[in-house]
Amino acid sequence: MRSILHCDLNGFFASVECLKRPELKNVPMAVCWDPKTRHGVILAKNELAKKYGIYTPETVYSAKKKCPHLVLVSPHHEEYRKYSKLVNQIYLKYTDRVEPFSIDESFLDITESLDLFGSAYHIAYQIKEEVKQTLGLTISVGVSFNKIFAKLGSDMKKPDAITVIDEKHYQEILYPLPIETMLFVGKATASTLRKMRIETIGDLARCDVHRLVKKIGKLGLELYEYANGRDDREVKLFTDKREAKSISRGITFQSDIQDSNILIEKMGVLVEDIAKNLRKQDYKASSVALILKFSDFSVISRQRKIFKTDSYHEILKVAIDLFHENYYAEKPVRKLTLGVGNLENKKDNIQLDLFELQSLKQKDEKQKKMAQAMHVMDQMNEKYGNYKITFGNIIKK
Ligand SMILES: [Mg+2]
Repeated sequence: MRSILHCDLNGFFASVECLKRPELKNVPMAVCWDPKTRHGVILAKNELAKKYGIYTPETVYSAKKKCPHLVLVSPHHEEYRKYSKLVNQIYLKYTDRVEPFSIDESFLDITESLDLFGSAYHIAYQIKEEVKQTLGLTISVGVSFNKIFAKLGSDMKKPDAITVIDEKHYQEILYPLPIETMLFVGKATASTLRKMRIETIGDLARCDVHRLVKKIGKLGLELYEYANGRDDREVKLFTDKREAKSISRGITFQSDIQDSNILIEKMGVLVEDIAKNLRKQDYKASSVALILKFSDFSVISRQRKIFKTDSYHEILKVAIDLFHENYYAEKPVRKLTLGVGNLENKKDNIQLDLFELQSLKQKDEKQKKMAQAMHVMDQMNEKYGNYKITFGNIIKK
């Protein structure tokens, strides 16, 4: 059994701003892109602002309605990167398996550190206190036996808190939670799941996995596995340089464009080219980035993690979501850029090939794959036990 932590800095951008200007601690404050225009979205808020019901990402306009005296501060990304590095340096004192998930979140595998430092809870506590004392920042920590549950744990109590989700109690703690709380369940997936009467993580764990896969594809199998506590993804070594590969495409317009529909149409063209390139190189991406350069040369850049994909539709959907969340048609766009990152080679996960087999058309290819399928099938049957997977539904075209 592994011991995995997910450490999440609380209101990271806002907390760093408060370190630099302690007076901000005593007023409701939020970080946003352009405080002067009052457009755009809230990137982070402090605890006092949270009390007014302000959330991220919320428009500045609506946040100001809830709290007219909200103090707005513009972001200092250099500073955030600096603190992010410092926090990871602290994590690295406890294990070399530290994998940053974003600027303010990291996974830690402390399995090998237990003999040295004590129980998983104790290590989580030590790390949390050390971050607070040396940097003045608070974190919330999820402690569990895999990444997916550790991540759910760090979300349950914050700020400055630890949540343990162990083998004995995970069903009791997590199964009542709404399906949206799971990593990789976006709005669209959630609404599909809800239509299937899968409303909680518990419903997901107990659902008919074949029906789920039919409905939402491979992601369904993966989510089902996760909900049942089966997530073997390892925490990478901090020194493992992730493939920095990314693909991006951009268009500079001859005359600036302010019409959202036209911009979305152009996004379709860019994504088509990106997806084609992903497939050609046998890559899947797990993040999507949108960069908008405006007529006044200001730039906004947004990124979102996704479940690994090379699908045109999935990438475009996320790109459009990012666009809607961040563009308020207040400024004409001069250049539009879309990118995908965290590229991984496709053949990572043998069990997923099972579902790719269904689409194989060539006959001789089929023979070869059948042997493979038998092997995969055996693994699946062993894994699921009561879900007998037979040859018929694998090779079905
Ligand atoms: Mg955070």
